[in-house]
Amino acid sequence: MGSNRWRGASPAVSRIASILLPVPLPEAFDYAEPEGMELAVGDHVAVPLGPRVIRGVVERLREGTGGNRPLKPVLERLDDPALPEGTLAFVNWAARYAVDAPGQPLAIALRGLRAQRARPEKVVVITGQAPTHMTPARAKVMEVAARTKLPPATLAGEAQVSAGVVKGLIDDGALEIRLIEPQSGFAEPDLSLKGRKLNASQAAAAAALKETVGKGFSAALLDGVTGSGKTEVYLEAVAAALAADPEAQVLVLLPEIALTQAVISRFAERFGAEPAEWHSGVTPPRRRRVWEAVVSGRCRIVVGARSALFLPFRKLSLVVVDEEHDASYKQEDGFIYQARDLAVARAKIEDAMVVLASATPSLESLYNAETGRYRWLKLADRHGDAVLPDVSLIDMRESQPEHGRWLSKPLVEAMAETFTRGEQTLLFLNRRGYAPLVLCRACGERMTSPDTDSWLVEHRYTGRLVCHLTGFSMLKPDRCPHCGAKDSLVSIGPGVERVEEEARSLFPEARIAVFSSDTVFDAEGAKALIETMAAGEIDILVATQAAAKGHNFPNLTLVGVVDADLGLRGGDLRAGERTFQLLAQAAGRAGRHERPGRALLQTYAPDHPVMQALKAQDRDAFIAAEMEMREVSGLPPFGRLAAVICTGPDAAVLEAYCRTLAAATPNAEGVEVFGPADAPLALMRGRRRKRFLVRANREVDLQAFMAAWRARARPPGSVRVTIDVDPYSFL
Ligand code: ADP
Repeated sequence: MGSNRWRGASPAVSRIASILLPVPLPEAFDYAEPEGMELAVGDHVAVPLGPRVIRGVVERLREGTGGNRPLKPVLERLDDPALPEGTLAFVNWAARYAVDAPGQPLAIALRGLRAQRARPEKVVVITGQAPTHMTPARAKVMEVAARTKLPPATLAGEAQVSAGVVKGLIDDGALEIRLIEPQSGFAEPDLSLKGRKLNASQAAAAAALKETVGKGFSAALLDGVTGSGKTEVYLEAVAAALAADPEAQVLVLLPEIALTQAVISRFAERFGAEPAEWHSGVTPPRRRRVWEAVVSGRCRIVVGARSALFLPFRKLSLVVVDEEHDASYKQEDGFIYQARDLAVARAKIEDAMVVLASATPSLESLYNAETGRYRWLKLADRHGDAVLPDVSLIDMRESQPEHGRWLSKPLVEAMAETFTRGEQTLLFLNRRGYAPLVLCRACGERMTSPDTDSWLVEHRYTGRLVCHLTGFSMLKPDRCPHCGAKDSLVSIGPGVERVEEEARSLFPEARIAVFSSDTVFDAEGAKALIETMAAGEIDILVATQAAAKGHNFPNLTLVGVVDADLGLRGGDLRAGERTFQLLAQAAGRAGRHERPGRALLQTYAPDHPVMQALKAQDRDAFIAAEMEMREVSGLPPFGRLAAVICTGPDAAVLEAYCRTLAAATPNAEGVEVFGPADAPLALMRGRRRKRFLVRANREVDLQAFMAAWRARARPPGSVRVTIDVDPYSFL
């Protein structure tokens, strides 16, 4: 614990400690350091805040007393390992970037400390002294104790004797109780193991990464189609980073928990030891152990979701952001941040290398690669004989299925052929539930959430109508709540459950499963379903985006995209880009091994540039067109955006505040402010919502502008103001 820091003798002068608190306060608070406490930056302390005592972290120490008004003293120095300087610097950087209070990212950085530290365990060990007399029961205990160290009761159980026998041997001096730290389970990676033999383009990319890792900050975009071996390549960079420095640590970020198991297995195979896992599904005591192992440097590889970025690494040498284009890297509530961008910032602060990997990189990263800011490493082909699937469009205007059906004739025929050959089909539809809308045939009323004006989605497995924004749900009523007509509610449009129903009626003998967050709840469930699919025990998998990414199914040769136009509707800034990425990923699931695959996209807009680019598999043409559109309109990556979302229960109060805020807009060169306008989601959880959108030229310090603006118009108590830098959601 901070052993490398010098704790000097008791200071002769009084010192003021600025303490960063994990609460939404604008800055660190000053406290007096009591004599003899000898704090250091990064130490955890307990301090009074109003009537409460809370945990905080020492951010700065300076000489002084606080003038005439005496400062409250720090109450206690806590025994937790100090937060490394890089982590503290990163927390502050992230707060400034997000135009938010530093306490918000600090709270994320301290999440691992919520559970109590695991207590040392009492186990029984052999002393080496022979028992004064032997019995068969005693012999059994000695035999088990020689093999493993167990707590007394477990030892007795294992040896099938009474607890008295163990106690007798302890009293006799043959055994003794010892306290040991609970198994931490962070085995050292075995760097003598070798990876697969790389093909030429993989070897070139791996060599480029190995050359720069461990030599300060650098950034690379690892750009290769699905199955080209990006994971194989970054595993080599990880090996090089760990080998270059015995203390080096590596962080691998993944966009979704469902993907962690597969990547963890790859690491376990490559390094003979499982990396630590970090995401919301990890239990608090386990998180505590990971946190402590990371801060002490004992844990060298972490595989995790975006919040792993805030772990207290001691010597971070490499950060990998896999599937870097994925919109799940954008955290939308609480502390709002884009983990991919923060990963680059953290790497810079830690003098580390960052590798962004994707088959369909974000426009932002491509721009950085094109302008030379990131090293651009391209993997041209799929590894081995696997070829990219053949992509065709099904024009739904010509092949429209009959009413209430969603699978067109050409797609059904392809499914039949695939099934007959004993191969697998993935039907992709990025929509959970049975039907996205329920309306009354008698009066036309749409079923909406009571305090949020969004449609309720029908879920047949549970018989409920669910709001996907707030989680509100109700049993599906048998009468229209509006006009009272009986059995008048009809389901409009398809969700995965409905497509599954249709597939079952078409292929009654096929084994069919659904993969969505309603059928798969956690990493374990995802792993089980993925393994079943990989083993060929499912013929048709109907899936949301959870299955579109990263997985490797050897026998999957057909991907059917039920509604390729889905992402294009609603039209936010990244609609085209996102649709292209998602569909290219989904199509990329087919034919990853020896068998060729094909992808069929059902679309009502076959002439749309996104569909044409997908059909021709011409990513470059699509990117070029999209870049030009963004450049002309000054949108990211050519300009910068931020949103301001104001919400409040009272429409008049909210309106008035928005007018005040609009009037307070600072004058600034190269900045345009649009709004306020009603948000597309104008009511959420009973609060009215209004939005502003700010567009700035690249060279503008957008964060400074936003902070100055907010400071000029304090909201009334009932109004909440949220700033979203680089918004992904425009709702
Ligand atoms: P990506 O991350 O680009 O999707 P992966 O690294 O997962 O690609 O590789 C796809 C599949 O091909 C995996 O099963 C992987 O083990 C295999 N593979 C990739 N490169 C090689 C190689 N050089 N030798 C053997 N197998 C490879």
